[in-house]
Amino acid sequence: MSQVDFLLEYTQLSGGAMHYIYPQQELIKDLIQNFEQAHGTIRFNTEATFVINENGAEVEYYDKKQKNSKRMACDFIAGCDGFHGISRRSVPSTHARIFERYYDSSWLAILAEAPPSANHIIYALHPNGFAGHMLRSDKVSRYYLQVKNTDDVNNWPDERVWTELELRLGKEGWRLIQGEILEKQIIPMRNFVIEPMQYQRLFLAGDSAHIITPAGGKGMNLAIQDSLVLGELFVGHYRGDFSADLNAYSSIRLPDIWHAQEFSSSFLDILSRSNDAFETDLFTRKLNESRLLQLRDNPLVATDFSKKYAGAMADPHHYAYGN
Ligand SMILES: Cc1cc2nc3c(=O)[nH]c(=O)nc-3n(C[C@H](O)[C@H](O)[C@H](O)COP(=O)(O)OP(=O)(O)OC[C@H]3O[C@@H](n4cnc5c(N)ncnc54)[C@H](O)[C@@H]3O)c2cc1C
Repeated sequence: MSQVDFLLEYTQLSGGAMHYIYPQQELIKDLIQNFEQAHGTIRFNTEATFVINENGAEVEYYDKKQKNSKRMACDFIAGCDGFHGISRRSVPSTHARIFERYYDSSWLAILAEAPPSANHIIYALHPNGFAGHMLRSDKVSRYYLQVKNTDDVNNWPDERVWTELELRLGKEGWRLIQGEILEKQIIPMRNFVIEPMQYQRLFLAGDSAHIITPAGGKGMNLAIQDSLVLGELFVGHYRGDFSADLNAYSSIRLPDIWHAQEFSSSFLDILSRSNDAFETDLFTRKLNESRLLQLRDNPLVATDFSKKYAGAMADPHHYAYGN
């Protein structure tokens, strides 16, 4: 395919939906501050080690400061401990279905103290693989490079990162602004969903319940939306509002989660190029090229994509954040 270069005005196409850049560490700082100001208690340095969820709910935890284990009885448990946490593991396999998919390439994610090299996000499809340029702040930018699953971060000294970004993102008259690399990690591309997201008094929220590829930046957004819905259901429950059915949590959240999974995996298909297996599948490659051209040439396709990208849905629970 000859070079395709186009600008997708997703804010305009989505009807003016706002896309906030809220770096995750800033969001967490603000959430902690707000929670403490509202007299909430957070036990830092405390690791949950076991979830008991039969005949009432209890959490066993290890207090790293006092160096001892304790138990806390509770009405409900919100399992917000990420993909590798313990809460999902306490759900018996007979009570849940796991849906997962792994891809044959990964992304090298880079965070650098470098101002953005363009005033918009760039997704570049190069024969060496995908490269991305994401805005974070006026001093910090994030970049992605598609790599093989067998690759190792040690194969990517800073100089090689900048050379490869320059090569894959570069076009005439454009310059990549370099800076100090703050973080480099290889992220496997995978999708994961557990259904239902509730087992008895345990409610899973965020990455503990679902993992999504970084294509389209939906993971943190889904985690926020889960928490928003779960929080409202808890408040309704304690206020005695009969319409606040905690048992409906999973069925409220799962449709949105699958919409996001569908969007992210279709987008990843368009972005993924030139790994060995893919090069041999020319039919798939032609389909993905066709999707890219439709995005450029078909206003209906571009509008639909933009609304999903910016999270511009009718539901007031939808906001889009970039991490
Ligand atoms: C490089 C990169 C870029 C990303 N970019 C975006 C983006 O642009 N937009 C977007 O929406 N998403 C993005 N994501 C995804 C997003 O970061 C995750 O989806 C989000 O962090 C999920 O939040 P969470 O709170 O569910 O889990 P986590 O962020 O994993 O938090 C879980 C917390 O639980 C704690 N914990 C774990 N086990 C225990 C235990 N046993 N006891 C006590 N505490 C425990 C952990 O220490 C951690 O603090 C990105 C991810 C990566 C890796």
